[in-house]
Amino acid sequence: DTAIASHFIRTRIDEDCAQKTYGDKVVTRFPPEPNGFLHFGHAKSIFLNFGLARDYQAQCPDSVCNLRFDDTNPTKEETEYVDAIREDVSWLGFDATGREFYASDYFERLYHCAELLIQAGLAYVDSQDAETLRATRGTLTEPGKDSPFRNRSVAENLELFRQMRAGAFPDGSHILRAKIDMASPNMNLRDPAIYRIRHAHHHRSGDAWCIYPMYDFAHCVSDAIEGITHSLCTLEFMDHRPLYDWFLDQLATLGEFERPLPQQIEFSRLNLTYVVLSKRKLIQLVTGKHVNGWDDPRLPTLKGARRRGFTPEGFRLFTDRIGVSKSDSLIDYGVLEDCMREHLNDTAERRIAVLDPVKLVLTNYPEAQSEECFAPNHPHHADWGKRVVPLSRELWIEREDFLPEPVKGFFRLVPGGEVRLRYGYIIKCTGFDQDADGNVTCIYAEYDPDTKSGTPGAESRKVKGNIHWLSCDHARAAEIRLYDRLFAVPAPGARREGDAPDLERDFLDDLNPDAMRVQTSMIEESLADAAPESRFQFERHGYFVADQIDHTAKRPVYNRTVTLRDSWAK
Ligand code: ATP
Ligand code: MG
Ligand code: MG
Repeated sequence: DTAIASHFIRTRIDEDCAQKTYGDKVVTRFPPEPNGFLHFGHAKSIFLNFGLARDYQAQCPDSVCNLRFDDTNPTKEETEYVDAIREDVSWLGFDATGREFYASDYFERLYHCAELLIQAGLAYVDSQDAETLRATRGTLTEPGKDSPFRNRSVAENLELFRQMRAGAFPDGSHILRAKIDMASPNMNLRDPAIYRIRHAHHHRSGDAWCIYPMYDFAHCVSDAIEGITHSLCTLEFMDHRPLYDWFLDQLATLGEFERPLPQQIEFSRLNLTYVVLSKRKLIQLVTGKHVNGWDDPRLPTLKGARRRGFTPEGFRLFTDRIGVSKSDSLIDYGVLEDCMREHLNDTAERRIAVLDPVKLVLTNYPEAQSEECFAPNHPHHADWGKRVVPLSRELWIEREDFLPEPVKGFFRLVPGGEVRLRYGYIIKCTGFDQDADGNVTCIYAEYDPDTKSGTPGAESRKVKGNIHWLSCDHARAAEIRLYDRLFAVPAPGARREGDAPDLERDFLDDLNPDAMRVQTSMIEESLADAAPESRFQFERHGYFVADQIDHTAKRPVYNRTVTLRDSWAK
C-alpha cells in the first residue's frame, strides 16, 4: 500500500485529535445532491471524506463518514440518482450501510431551528418581491438596503412563517431571512434567505412541505445534527463559512446544539483537462445525444468510468497522487490515464486480439492440423501460469504488421523478410495477394519448424520483428469499441490564442470526433467467455474491458480503457 501523503486537512484533524477537540472521533460526510450522476470530481471528495474517516479509525476509533443525500431542493431530485450514487460510492470501495442520511429527513428539525431564530429576533419574514430583493442587496462596493419588513415583531414573524408552512401563500410572496447585516462586506451575510415558498413535490417528503430551506442553512444544520466534526467542501464555499459559523453559533447559544460545533474546511476542486466536470455540461452532453447516456464510456462520470474499464484502485492512486490543496489547479488527463495503466498493468491478464485482421497462410503447415503454443498470462506473475494459444495453417495477423514494400526502420513482415510469431515460430514471407484497389487480402509465409518458442535452440536464431496472431479456426469475432478522450483540446470551450476578441467558443464544438470508433476484430476464444467487466491487456494494444452491459459469449464486446502509452503527450 502507498504511504498516505499528508495535507493541510490532515494537519488540522491531527491537531483536533491531539487536543481531543471532538473526543475520540473524526466524522466527515460526503453530501451529494441527488440531481445527477457522480463524476470524477466527486471521486476526489469520496476518497477524501471516506478515506479520512477510515484512516483515523486507528487513532480515533469512533471515526465514520456519512453518505448524506443533500436533497432539500424539491424539484430537481430523483430517486434514480440516489440509487446510482449509492452504487458508485460502493464501487469505489466504501460501504455506507447504516450511515446513509437524507437532509430531507431533517425538515422538521430545520423548521424548528428557523422558529428558534425568529423567536430570538434573528430572523424575519420579508415580503418584498424577488426583483426588489435583488435590487436592495447592494454590490461589492455598495452596502445593501434594509428591508421595510426587517423590524417586524417576533409575533408577526412567527405567525407569517407558520402561515407560510401551512400553504397560505403563493411561491415567491415571502421569504424567511436571517437578520445579520445588510452592510456586511461579505454578501453572504446580508440577511441571507433561510426559507422560501415552493409548492413542489419532493421525492421523499411528497407534498408535506411547501417551504424549503436554503442550502447555506440546511447544510450546516444537517452537519450539526449528524455530529459532523470536519465538513469538507470546495473553495467556492469559503465566503460562505462566516454564515455557516453564524447559524451554528446562534443555534448553539440558543441551546439547540452542543459545542464544539462542526467546522467547515475548504479544498480545491478537481479540474481535469480534456473533459468537463460540471453537472450542467454533462447533462447537455447526454440530453443533446452527443454521448449514449450517463454511462457512456467517454463521459467523466463514475458510471462511464466503470464501463470504460477504469478501476477504483486507479482512482485511489490518482487522488493520492494529485493530493489536496487550497489552490485551484488543472490536472492533466494523462495523470489519470497513467494511474489506470499502473493499476491495470499489474492486475490485468494478458490476451491476444487482432484488431484489424488480415489473413496469413503458412503454406508449409499441414492442413486440418493444429498445435498448442503457450502464452504467459502475465509477464511479472509467473504463478498466474500460461494458457494455450492454438496455432494452425491459417492465421489472423494485424494489417499494420505487414508492408508490401519494405520501408527503412520497419522490422515487421515484408516480402522475403522474417519475423517471429510471438509464442510460436519464425516465419518468412513468400508472397501476398492484393485486390484491385491495392489492399492486401492475403499473405503467404513458410514457418521454420525448428524455431518454436520454448523449445531447445529456438531462440538461437534472432529476428527483429515479433508479431501477434490468432488461429483462424480458433479465434472469435468481437465488437471492439476504441475509446479516446472526449474532447480534442485541453480546455473545452475556452478561448484559444489568436481567437478574435469577440469570439465565444462552445464546449460542444471541441468534442473529439474520434472519441469512439467501433470495429470488428478477432479475439482469443477465452475472451468471449470472460464475464462482463473482466479486464485484460491486449498485447501491444492497451487495456480492454468486457462491456458491462452488451458483452455476451455469443456476441463479445470489448471497450478500450486506455492505450499502452500516452499518445497525446507532446
Ligand atoms: P457540480 O459542480 O458538478 O454541479 P456539485 O458540487 O453541485 O457538482 P454535489 O452533488 O453538490 O455536486 O457535490 C457533492 C460533493 O462533491 C460536494 O461536497 C462537492 O464539494 C464535491 N465535489 C463536486 N465536484 C467536485 C470536484 N470537481 N472536485 C472535488 N469535489 C467535488
Ligand atoms: Mg452542489
Ligand atoms: Mg455545483
